[in-house]
Amino acid sequence: MPILRYAVACLITLTLADAALAQDKPDDWLTRLFQPSSTAAVPTPAGGKHQWSGQSGASGNPLMSADAIRAAATDFPNCIAALWPAAESRGITRATFERATGGLTPDLSIMDLLDAQPEFTKSPWGYLDLLVDDERIARGRALLAQYATVFAAAERSYGVDRYILAAIWGVESKYGTMGGDRPVIRSTATLACVGRRRNFFRGEFLSALDIVQRGDVPMQRLVGSWAGAFGPTQFMPSTFERYAVDFDGDGRRDIVDSVPDVIASTANNLKSYGWVRGEGWGYEVVLPPHFDYLLAGHSRQMTVRQWQALGIRRAGDKQFPRPSDRAYLVLPAGARGPAFLMLRNFSVIMKYNPSEAYALAIGHLADRLRGGAPFIQPWPRDERVLTVAERYELQQLLARRGFDIGEPDGLLGPRTRVAIRKFQAATGQIPDGFASSVVLDRLRQP
Ligand code: CA
Repeated sequence: MPILRYAVACLITLTLADAALAQDKPDDWLTRLFQPSSTAAVPTPAGGKHQWSGQSGASGNPLMSADAIRAAATDFPNCIAALWPAAESRGITRATFERATGGLTPDLSIMDLLDAQPEFTKSPWGYLDLLVDDERIARGRALLAQYATVFAAAERSYGVDRYILAAIWGVESKYGTMGGDRPVIRSTATLACVGRRRNFFRGEFLSALDIVQRGDVPMQRLVGSWAGAFGPTQFMPSTFERYAVDFDGDGRRDIVDSVPDVIASTANNLKSYGWVRGEGWGYEVVLPPHFDYLLAGHSRQMTVRQWQALGIRRAGDKQFPRPSDRAYLVLPAGARGPAFLMLRNFSVIMKYNPSEAYALAIGHLADRLRGGAPFIQPWPRDERVLTVAERYELQQLLARRGFDIGEPDGLLGPRTRVAIRKFQAATGQIPDGFASSVVLDRLRQP
């Protein structure tokens, strides 16, 4: 499944688990979230036409130059024809292949999205405001009631918390209302033959053909995001192959139109990623005064009891149910915002989409669906979010001062956060790793 996520936009919270880490949903959910007016959320334009800008991609990759895109588009029929042997060896019939690819043209508008760089970045609180709103909470509760028996059966079979499943449904597609309108065969065929991600998408295209061959999802219902993620919980075709299940027993794994299949397939996916039955995702916690912020981050795993010994308590004066669980500390907005102890299941959610911001939104929406309250500690809403240009500048200034940030990429991954911490510690600031405008201003001083 793995794929390189190129554009992670959310301020600091996004831990690019590892740039090379694979994942199921390449780029598309981010594009949805950060450019909600330009992609999947958009109603189908007249005739379903999406237009390519005709511009070279921002990545600078030679395969993304306008000339290379045009040349690949011209060669598209040959490229598709050359995929027949691989399809045949997977058991796809000639009839299916021709039905799926006959007269197919590339959707070049996808090239603009493949290289899209979000101009604006969202703060952790902006991200949560967007995804955990009253409408999503109300709709999610209604669906949990409507499909209570299905959720209960999926919980029994897979051990995954129904509120997490509903939250994924809500965040990925706003409960199936924003899943995208692009034919998956066409999108994956385009990406398999045009642009800089061909190897990855060749597999996705073949997996999409498998779905059509088996008749799990009718071809006309196989529509989704520009990157080929489809259905209410946005499975990539290869994810479908691995994890989709027929839960309503009609013989088809229909993760587009069968709610039982959607819920159980998503549960099966999380179970396969290591979901721990009966455990939550994490806790909002309150740090003691003079806390050592260098202890935050994924690399420091301790038991909840050990964290308690350092003076950390659960927000709202609640008890930790299982003090022996291992957890790590996350400060999405630095020392001025809420803190969280994250459990194993938080990492499982991050396998679904490798972003701390995403996983926090899923966990929090799940808690709200369950009847939980908003976070207790306030976000530093007066804090200004750095632009992409400023994040590059921040990285360059850190590098100039001898801190190791790798190649400046405009992303604030773990390495950059460590560098920020070291700089903060060296200059008498609280070393919380948060890329605030204060840190940037301080770096700009000689
Ligand atoms: Ca079914």
